[in-house]
Amino acid sequence: MRLLIVGPQGAGKGTQAALLAESLGIPHVSTGDLFRANLAAETELGKLAKKYMDAGELVPDEVTQEMVADRVSQPDAAPGFLLDGFPRNIPQADWLTGLLDGMAAPVQVVVLLTAPDQVLLDRMLARGRTDDTVEAIQRRLDIYHRETTPLIDYYDGRVVHVDGVGGVEEVHQRVLDAVRSH
Ligand code: AMP
Repeated sequence: MRLLIVGPQGAGKGTQAALLAESLGIPHVSTGDLFRANLAAETELGKLAKKYMDAGELVPDEVTQEMVADRVSQPDAAPGFLLDGFPRNIPQADWLTGLLDGMAAPVQVVVLLTAPDQVLLDRMLARGRTDDTVEAIQRRLDIYHRETTPLIDYYDGRVVHVDGVGGVEEVHQRVLDAVRSH
């Protein structure tokens, strides 16, 4: 099964993506995690991505897309994958559609995980990541609203809405139910 998970920062997307991928037996492909791994390993890609990540800006599409193409063409992703944090804008979605059409393997379900702004903010301030400065948080929220929310219409008919408020297990069950009933 090929799925995407979309939602604002702080909605619990990363946690829920990991649990969902495990339940479905497919790899969890998080572009943020891939960039952070490159950062830690001090690769050229990591060095390039760092300045964008620190500012809360998107890493250029071509760079991100190349990384995604690499990852989803690995053997463990042949049965399916859950993309977390990608696509983040319409050009990335168009690119992904082209890539997956070429593999005759389109996206089947898009999980939209949401929560009220106050819940998002509280969770983000609690996680204490180095790129969680007030400015970077605000920048990422602006980008989410401007560039990422149009994906909801783009994937119309494949989107399942899930309320992200509640305990981790409770929300996980909601996500699973939504995906299975789609
Ligand atoms: P995340 O862990 O999803 O919050 O991602 C952390 C950072 O990685 C973002 O603030 C961006 O700088 C970068 N990033 C992650 N996914 C993407 C993407 N699809 N396109 C561009 N930049 C991304």
